[in-house]
Amino acid sequence: MVKAAFLGLGVMGYPMARHLKAKGHDVTVYNRTRAKAEKWVADNGGRLAATPREAAAGQDVVFACVGNDNDLRQVTLGPDGAFDAMGAGALFVDHTTASAGIARELHTAAQGRGFDFLDAPVSGGQAGAENGQLTVMVGGDPAAFDRAHPTIMAFAKAARLLGPSGSGQLAKMMNQICIAGVVQGLAEAIHFGKRAGMDIEAVIEVISKGAAQSWQMENRYKTMNAGKFDFGFAVDWMRKDLSIVLDEARDNGARLPLTALVDQFYADVQAMGGERWDTSSLLARLER
Ligand code: NAP
Repeated sequence: MVKAAFLGLGVMGYPMARHLKAKGHDVTVYNRTRAKAEKWVADNGGRLAATPREAAAGQDVVFACVGNDNDLRQVTLGPDGAFDAMGAGALFVDHTTASAGIARELHTAAQGRGFDFLDAPVSGGQAGAENGQLTVMVGGDPAAFDRAHPTIMAFAKAARLLGPSGSGQLAKMMNQICIAGVVQGLAEAIHFGKRAGMDIEAVIEVISKGAAQSWQMENRYKTMNAGKFDFGFAVDWMRKDLSIVLDEARDNGARLPLTALVDQFYADVQAMGGERWDTSSLLARLER
């Protein structure tokens, strides 16, 4: 059992920290909005810290799952940040979806202070976090990964080291590139089928057994067909992720024409008031 802190009790962090506690780890939580941390401790036990620095002091592992690069910088290197309190031999595991650049920057800063840093973004969404079934893509040093792996598995079904620092974030970018294209394709098929007067349920039941099958099709076609988008992975988050992807592509020379286009489609969804809608709301854009 390890002494762990969890920074950021949002949609993802709250249940991830709960799984850690349920596995018997000694968990301290920090959340910027204190009420959420108070509720977490009331629900799960454990200890509440007033700042990331206080949460991180004396821990074996410090986990974080906050919003973006700036938020991550704030909870690590900012005033009352975790890094100042972390001792030699400790480990910081970051589950935020952020840039590969900040992962490398924090890895270097951590090494300079004598502890390890892993970038470890997740896939599987809110349901994966609630069920402890996330997939974790990790970048960093093999020894640090081996130490973190058993603890990460408290909330994951799979975790894999994919290369040096930044590689977890690069893998997550590939994940988001795949999703952008697949969701637009599924939205166009449903839109087309409705216009053609087809029974969408019947068609999807058949084609989901063939080459058109996807996670998005299995898990989203029913809600898309019903025009329900008020749940799941928010369009605002997807645009944040795609902006990280497109910045990285500018640096490495990759051509991502479809991803760039779908990013603009999501800007249309935001303009429709869909900032917090699920990413499957690309269909709503076609049907407006
Ligand atoms: P969320 O519900 O909005 O939670 C964000 C958390 O970060 C909250 O605890 C928030 O604190 C905290 N935070 C944000 N900025 C901060 C700052 N400057 N200082 C301190 N704390 C700060 O987001 P989420 O859905 O859990 O997502 C978290 C991360 O996981 C994001 O990078 C997202 O892209 C990624 N992710 C999300 C999903 C998903 O399905 N939701 C799936 C995979 C990956 P407050 O409570 O005070 O706002």
